[in-house]
Amino acid sequence: MYVVTEEVCEAVVTRKDAFDAVEAVFGAMAKGDAWNFPVVREAIGHADALYGFKSGFDRAGLTLGVKSGGYWPGNMDNGLTNHQSTVALFNPDTGQLQAVVGGNYLTAVRTAASSSVSIAHLARKDAKVIGMIGAGHQSAFQLRAALEQRDFEKVICWNHDPSMIPRVEGVAKEVGLPFEALEREALSAEADVIITITSAYEPLLMKDWIKPGTHIACMGTDTKGKQEVDAALLAAARVFTDEVAQSISIGEAQHAIAAGSLAENAITPIGDVINGDNPGRTTPEDITLFDGTGVGLQDLVVARVAMDRAVAEGRATDVVL
Ligand code: NAD
Repeated sequence: MYVVTEEVCEAVVTRKDAFDAVEAVFGAMAKGDAWNFPVVREAIGHADALYGFKSGFDRAGLTLGVKSGGYWPGNMDNGLTNHQSTVALFNPDTGQLQAVVGGNYLTAVRTAASSSVSIAHLARKDAKVIGMIGAGHQSAFQLRAALEQRDFEKVICWNHDPSMIPRVEGVAKEVGLPFEALEREALSAEADVIITITSAYEPLLMKDWIKPGTHIACMGTDTKGKQEVDAALLAAARVFTDEVAQSISIGEAQHAIAAGSLAENAITPIGDVINGDNPGRTTPEDITLFDGTGVGLQDLVVARVAMDRAVAEGRATDVVL
């Protein structure tokens, strides 16, 4: 059994690795070759924490396991990130524990890979301006991955708390792109691609602000009650997701589904686009919206890359149970 630390994960798993693994597993999910098991998420009644499991099996890639962890709001005061997670991988032939892999860096790269897979498959090829709604921990990972998908020429950003905006500005500077902080309506009028990655519980972007041809990756809504965009926008857009069951229950589509303005069968798994079974964007004017809810298989496939690389490079610790 191998132990792969956070530090080793960061050293061995690149953005390209995460993109390839997440794209492949979304394709496998749409073909029925990989599936996620029901998610458990509970308030544990201690330290204000939310704790749970995300698990699944990728039969195509023979990856089985579970990501366990959650949200500890007091961690920041002790110099730790509030989200904490660990992945356990099991041998699908024998059930034996194969590896324990740090899950914090992997969560960020697999979430960024998800929105960047959506940009690669759904955004207009001539997209030039990327708009970030949110400037928290995930935002820098999101932006770095997205910038690799199109020839973006400018980064714009809005955040609830303006003091966090330098995190996004710093990534734009790193790659030498001009940066501007804007109000939400102005950002919507200018952006060709928008990523929302916040903890909001109310719509931040209204349908009438979004220009034709925009691609929006909604990445923050992963729990019942959260919301980042106007429900009417989902009714007006071509809607794609990682997993339809999560999209309608804990994802951005939950509100349009509850309002009756969006039908479940109007939501397309992005794997169908990846597999060539759905055209994705059909005209340059389509508004495409990706509801990235975050599935356990994303975690497992990037953890598998981490384990394989770490073992190959002699950076995994071998432990006898
Ligand atoms: P963070 O705590 O570092 O940042 C939170 C962000 O949300 C900040 O930009 C903050 O200003 C903003 N925000 C908070 N309250 C807001 C409000 N009421 N209105 C508007 N903006 C508000 O968190 P993070 O790690 O960057 O994660 C951001 C979100 O992404 C969280 O909701 C998290 O649960 C979600 N997430 C989703 C996935 C996925 O797979 N879809 C994966 C990881 C995280």
